[in-house]
Amino acid sequence: MSGLCDPSYCCPECFTDDWLRDTIETLSQHVGDCAHCGSKSVRLLPALDLRDAFENVMTCYSQVMFGENMSPDEDPTEVGEYPAVLMQDDFGIFSDLLDDSDKQAELLDEILWRPQHKGSGPGFDPSGLYTHRETLFDISLGDEWDSFCRQIKKDPTAQWEYDNIDRWVTRTACSVPAGALFYRARPGYTRKGRERLPHSGTEIGAPPLSKCKPARVNDEGQRVLYCADQSHTAICEVRPLRGEYVSIGQVRLTAPLQIADLVNKLEAPNPFTTTVLRHEVEIHKVLRAFASQLSRPLDWRDDETDYIPCRYLADRIRAAGLSGIRYGSTMDRKGSNVVFFEVGCGEILNSSLVRVSEVDVKYTIL
Ligand SMILES: [Zn+2]
Repeated sequence: MSGLCDPSYCCPECFTDDWLRDTIETLSQHVGDCAHCGSKSVRLLPALDLRDAFENVMTCYSQVMFGENMSPDEDPTEVGEYPAVLMQDDFGIFSDLLDDSDKQAELLDEILWRPQHKGSGPGFDPSGLYTHRETLFDISLGDEWDSFCRQIKKDPTAQWEYDNIDRWVTRTACSVPAGALFYRARPGYTRKGRERLPHSGTEIGAPPLSKCKPARVNDEGQRVLYCADQSHTAICEVRPLRGEYVSIGQVRLTAPLQIADLVNKLEAPNPFTTTVLRHEVEIHKVLRAFASQLSRPLDWRDDETDYIPCRYLADRIRAAGLSGIRYGSTMDRKGSNVVFFEVGCGEILNSSLVRVSEVDVKYTIL
């Protein structure tokens, strides 16, 4: 069959999602033109064949119902959205070739409820408005976490009511092998006669207990080993001035360790195949909120309480039996940092001295 342009068929080019594209390529038995995205001579699949997958995505949403998930004084058009819009916002399923929500809705109707076969879709109302809310008082875990962050800044002894952090973060656990290299930087150098030498050994390792200032994941007097994955990131993290000398030391891990990796292990659940999708999406969002909390640029000169939620997280990650955390760098957006809870986990190798030739500043006018 060739040249087919039947709206009950769709093609891989209708979607950006890799799993969906692969599924269509694998199951397709026809080549033709796609009535939805306009692609020519592409593999086509009956849209109905994607129904189970899309019904799984729909488990994230509930239809807007007065009294159930919407109070009488709310406007349904503000509480709810059309499913295609929600899916696109949440998962970016449709490709740019379906560049307006009407085209997306038409394809979704073909998948979940074929217009010419009314009632064939179980429990899907094509003209209904849908919401993430299951009940009137439904608050997402992410919102609960944000609200807890505000609370713990006022009361550092507060405990989070919904705290399953230890279970959640173990999903991001990754092994760092013995011998893995990390970098530490320290402004300045040691002078020997007229010679400038980089700080080395214990001078560039974790500071002694008496000099441990409170920082992102440690309280005053609590020793941890902050490192970066890349030397460039380590230099950026000490916020050097232009022309300043910075010593960089390599740290080699002496034994394999399990850490929470909030940079590389935050994979979003597959919306088409993940069971209990709504719950999994919530956990993914809250893990992303943790990652964002840990890598947020903080101005400790203004408000040291900004670090309190990070320390709470670090304590919970430590209690989960993990030995450190990888988090995005505040000062080098492409870089990442690792903090190890035990300072003795790495040995300091050679260090070198660099001079910062340029500092790039970008800003927002407030
Ligand atoms: Zn298409």
